Amino acid sequence: MLSNSLVELDRAHLIHPVASWRGHEQAGVRLLTSAKGATVTDTADRHLLDGFSGLWCVNAGYGHDSIVEAASRQMRELPYATGYFGLGSEPAVRLAAELAERAPGDLNHVYFTLGGSDAVDSSVRFISYYHHAKGEPQRDQFISLEHGYHGSSTVGAGLTALSAFHQGFGLPYPWQHKIPSSYPYRNSAGTDDASNIAASVAALRAKVAEIGADRVAAFYAEPIQGSGGVIVPPRGWMKAMRDTCLELGILFVADEVITGFGRTGPLFACAEDDVVPDLLTVAKGLTSGYAPMGAVFLSEHVYNTIADGAGSSAVGHGFTYSAHPVSAAVGLEVLRLYEEGGLLANGRVMGARLMEGLQSLSDHPLVGDVRGRGMLAALELVIDKERKTPLPAAAEAGRRIFERAWDCGLIIRAFAHGCIGYAPPLCCTEAEIDAIVEKTRRVLDLTLEDGDVRAAM
Ligand code: PMP
Repeated sequence: MLSNSLVELDRAHLIHPVASWRGHEQAGVRLLTSAKGATVTDTADRHLLDGFSGLWCVNAGYGHDSIVEAASRQMRELPYATGYFGLGSEPAVRLAAELAERAPGDLNHVYFTLGGSDAVDSSVRFISYYHHAKGEPQRDQFISLEHGYHGSSTVGAGLTALSAFHQGFGLPYPWQHKIPSSYPYRNSAGTDDASNIAASVAALRAKVAEIGADRVAAFYAEPIQGSGGVIVPPRGWMKAMRDTCLELGILFVADEVITGFGRTGPLFACAEDDVVPDLLTVAKGLTSGYAPMGAVFLSEHVYNTIADGAGSSAVGHGFTYSAHPVSAAVGLEVLRLYEEGGLLANGRVMGARLMEGLQSLSDHPLVGDVRGRGMLAALELVIDKERKTPLPAAAEAGRRIFERAWDCGLIIRAFAHGCIGYAPPLCCTEAEIDAIVEKTRRVLDLTLEDGDVRAAM
């Protein structure tokens, strides 16, 4: 009864992110009521294995009392402190220091935001301040990757390469440029890792030459492209792109909103690739979704250039909820759980098991590609493996895949172009990882029986 009326209230009043509004009104909301570990429960008391950690954010898993205690203690003691007027709070200072200590290289300065989109937006603003301070205000052109996702604020949506985020805004802005991403499965230039990397480097050089070498402000990349379909570049790709940026004199920004905090193994995926970016953005796993928070890290030279450029004037960028004490307290406890609580270590072991399990599905007639790193993975489904032909009406097929997985008690992400994404909590057990793989096989078998899929094969 209660849940029926909530569905009606949702339909009437709550706008859902990245949804067909009319489609959602028809389908109605699926309400989740509680969660523990890697399992969420809905209003019908169904238990579902969350193979996507909410929205690739609940890296620590659900139901950690110590996080709840850290948040409630902070709420009781000091629920809010502004960072304006030179004020601050203990957890925010401590979290910044703990993160700086662990971040690659000299990314020692942390600006906290509310999530990933405003972390990306903040990075764009800081880069602009940086080039003005350096006396190069004409460096106002930004390059990012096809299939990339950098948030849905207006500026971030323009860096994002997914067309659904562009409609009606004149996006991308003329100063936002794209180059092809590495995409080993579909990149015709890259038949092997070395030529794949060389193609990306050549594309970046060509784009910089086209725009004008003294006009380019920065290049943005995700270490693994998440929302574009978990696209994993070859090892060495990021290092090559970073080195090319150094050579060309442009800033390199790593967007680790998804890959950070154990998702691919370490706290920062960059570190694994021996890359120190000029700026780095994070969110999601920073607080494991228990409270909203993102951050931008600035390297010493970026920070000092902006600081010296501004002198005694204010750097005009700030949010009411920057460095929110409750989120920071959550972040500190989450960080402790990753390290002392053994979650990073468990995630590494389970990530290897997940990849092995998904690899075992590669003999399935619909599985064209299996890719991933750590607890971040995808299957790319095709109807013809040799030609790599996508599923017919892939968006509709994706919707059916999501529904079937749900009916099998599994939450996964079905991307509109026929990829299935996985990002399970790092706390998963072996049995849970195996269940994710087994349930996926069942979903694939059911998809194979679909009339339109069979007709197209
Ligand atoms: N950058 C990347 C790489 C992301 O994956 C996301 C979110 N999926 C964002 C930025 C935006 O983060 P948020 O949704 O927290 O605004």
